Amino acid sequence: MHIKSVNLETVCGVTSVLPENDKVEIAFAGKSNVGKSSLINALMNRKAYARTSSQPGKTQTINFYNINDEVYFVDLPGYGYAKVSLALKEKWGKLIEKYLGTSKQLRIIFLLIDIRHEPSENDKNMYDWIVHNGYNPVIIATKLDKINRSQRDKHIKMIRKGLNTVEGTPIIPFSSISKQGRDEIWELIEFTMNG
Ligand code: GDP
Repeated sequence: MHIKSVNLETVCGVTSVLPENDKVEIAFAGKSNVGKSSLINALMNRKAYARTSSQPGKTQTINFYNINDEVYFVDLPGYGYAKVSLALKEKWGKLIEKYLGTSKQLRIIFLLIDIRHEPSENDKNMYDWIVHNGYNPVIIATKLDKINRSQRDKHIKMIRKGLNTVEGTPIIPFSSISKQGRDEIWELIEFTMNG
């Protein structure tokens, strides 16, 4: 898609009323530092528009990026940052639950997993939680450039097994350095927007 405009339109905290958008929403979830901002920036063709994790886990907001007035990217707060208090973790959970439970426009949830590592307990919980809410997430295996090409299939299998993904769940490897995977992710988004 040709990106004409990108606008961080709404930032929602725990007490905010979530927007009722009239365009398709595409959400991004993943633990802090997994490469979520880098992916969103790469998809939007922006160098540093989405926040990057200078203070991982500190920003407990859902950010809605309006792309071309055609589609929203919904940046969910990163999870799994150990230093965050239990109270904040609970708030985070409520915020995401509210979003997953109420959005009428949400069509795809991308769940980001670092391709190098086995999914953590938090990743598994997030995956199960998304499925429990009636969505079938698309997995993006991030930081593809950090592993050897010959290791790729093995690591994808490890992620599939770790999350115990339902059949047919796509796993798209991605690197924000080489931009490998970017076109495939956009194809999926555009297919969904037009369907
Ligand atoms: P977020 O917390 O999930 O938003 O993660 P960021 O996008 O801020 O990335 C966390 C760190 O990983 C930063 O230092 C990024 O430069 C780095 N990073 C993100 N994606 C990639 C990638 O595809 N390849 C490599 N080598 N590093 C990445």
